Amino acid sequence: METFKMRIGADWCEAASGEWISTENPYTGEEWARIPRGGEADADAAVEAAHQAGQGEWKTLTATQRGRLLYQFARLIREKGQRLADLEVTDIGRRRKEALGVVDHLASYYEYYAGLADKIEGSVTPFDKPGFLHYTVHEPMGVVVCIVPWNGPLLLASMKIAPALAAGCTVVVKPSEFASASIIHLAELAEEAGFPPGVFNVVTGYGKEIGDTLTSHPLVRKVAFTGGHVGGRAVAQSAAQGFKHITLELGGKSPNIVFEDADQDEALAGVSMAIFNTSGQACLAGSRLLVQRSIADSFVEKLADHMRKAKLGDPTDLDTDIGPIATRPQFDSVLNHLRIAKKEGATAVLGGDRDRLTGGEDGLFVEPTIFTNVTSDMRIAREEVFGPVLVVIPFDTDEEAVQIANDTSFGLAAGLWTSSLERALEIPRQLQAGTVWVNTYRTVSVMAPFGGFKDSGIGRENGRAAVEDYLETKSIVIRPSTSTV
Ligand code: NAD
Repeated sequence: METFKMRIGADWCEAASGEWISTENPYTGEEWARIPRGGEADADAAVEAAHQAGQGEWKTLTATQRGRLLYQFARLIREKGQRLADLEVTDIGRRRKEALGVVDHLASYYEYYAGLADKIEGSVTPFDKPGFLHYTVHEPMGVVVCIVPWNGPLLLASMKIAPALAAGCTVVVKPSEFASASIIHLAELAEEAGFPPGVFNVVTGYGKEIGDTLTSHPLVRKVAFTGGHVGGRAVAQSAAQGFKHITLELGGKSPNIVFEDADQDEALAGVSMAIFNTSGQACLAGSRLLVQRSIADSFVEKLADHMRKAKLGDPTDLDTDIGPIATRPQFDSVLNHLRIAKKEGATAVLGGDRDRLTGGEDGLFVEPTIFTNVTSDMRIAREEVFGPVLVVIPFDTDEEAVQIANDTSFGLAAGLWTSSLERALEIPRQLQAGTVWVNTYRTVSVMAPFGGFKDSGIGRENGRAAVEDYLETKSIVIRPSTSTV
C-alpha cells in the first residue's frame, strides 16, 4: 500500500485530522494506496500558503524567469513521465499506451505556456483628453483553486496550472478523491523544478468536505473547475458569493455525424475511437452516433463487428484496447444507465452488460455497447453515461442531422465525417458545440481553445487567450503636468 501526502507550502503533510482515504485499483479491485482526507483546516492552510508565496520570491521573478521554471518542469515531466503514467494506470485503469501519450501531451502544455510567460503585453492606447498617457498592464489574479475530476487528472489539472503559473498566479490543486496520486507526484516534480514553496499546493479530500472552504475563501481570486454538473453548480454558487472569477468545464453528450459520402473505413475507426477510447470516460466522448439512413444498417453492423474484436483487459498491457471503468460508483452508474436504456426499449446490438474477464474477475469492466432503436427523448440519448456506451440515431437530411445534433442540453464537442467540402464548411457553423471536428475526433491541442456551449460550461481553456483568464487588466492614466485635471 502506497502512501501519498499533501503539498502545502514547503511541507509534505498528512491531514490535520490524521484521517485517510483509501484508493482502489479498478483492474484488480484491490486497495493500493491511501491519500490524506484533508479537512477545512488543511484547505485553509493551502490557500494561506499560496497567498504567502504570491507575496514572496515568486512575485520578484521576471516573466522570463517564470517561463524558465515552466520549461524546467516540462523537461522533468518528459524525463520522469513513466511514474506519472504508471500512477494513472494503477489509479484509474487508464491504458498504459494512452497514459504515456498523455504525459507527452502534458509536457507540451508547460512548454507552450512557458513560451507565453514573457509575451504577456499591455498596450498604449489613444485617450480622449489631450496630452494624457493611457496604458494597460496585466497582473496575476492571485490564488487560483484548480478542481479536477478523476477521469484525466494530470491533463485536466495542467490545462489550469500551466497558464495560471505563466500568468504569475499561485495554485491550490484539489484532485478528485478517487484519483489524487498522479497530481501529488506532479507536485513533487514541481518542487524539483525549483518553483518556490507555496506556488504549487495540493490538498486532497472529498469535494463536499473541503470544496466550499476553497471556493469561498476570501484569499482566492479564481476557481477553475472541471467536473460534473452538481459539483459545477455548487462551485459557481459558492464562488459567486465572493465575486470570484470562474471557468467551468462540464460534461457532454457529443454527436458524431456520419454522412453517406464519408470514407467509411476512416469514419468507422473515428467513431469507435471517439467513444471507446478511455472506456467512454471522457467529457468529449462521441456518445451519439448520427448516421445517414442509407448506410446506417451496414455501418452499425461493421462497427459492432470491429468492436467484437476489441481486447478488454489489463491496462498495463500495451495490447489492451479497452480498460476498466475507473471507480466503483461510476461502474454502478454505467450499469444503471444500461438498465434504463433497455427499459426504455433500446436494443443492444453489441454488449449491454458488465464483463467478467478471466484474470480480471474483480475488475470494473463494462462490455462495449451499441444501442439502436433510440430516439432523442430517451434518457440514454440525453444523459452523459461516461462509459463505453454508444447510441445510434439515423437521419435522412443535413437539416435533420443538425437538428438532432443540437437537441441536447450539452454543447461540448461534435464530429462529422464527409467528403463534401460544402458540408465540411457549412455544418460546423450550425452546430452548437465548443469544438467541431471534421473527419477526425478527439484532436485536442494546447493551441486550440476548448470548452462548452450551453450546459457544458463557461469559458475556454487552452490557447493564448487562456492565460488572460488568470490576469487582471489595469488601466493606468497619467496626466501631463501642463494639463488640467
Ligand atoms: P465531480 O463533479 O463529482 O468532481 C469533480 C471534482 O469536483 C472533484 O475533485 C470533486 O471532489 C470536486 N467537487 C465535488 N463537489 C464539490 C463541491 N461542492 N465544491 C468543490 N468541489 C467539489 O466529477 P467527477 O465525477 O469527478 O468527473 C466526471 C465529470 O467530469 C463528468 O460529468 C465529465 O463530463 C466531467 N468532465 C468534464 C471535462 C471537460 O473538460 N468539460 C473533462 C473531464 C470531465
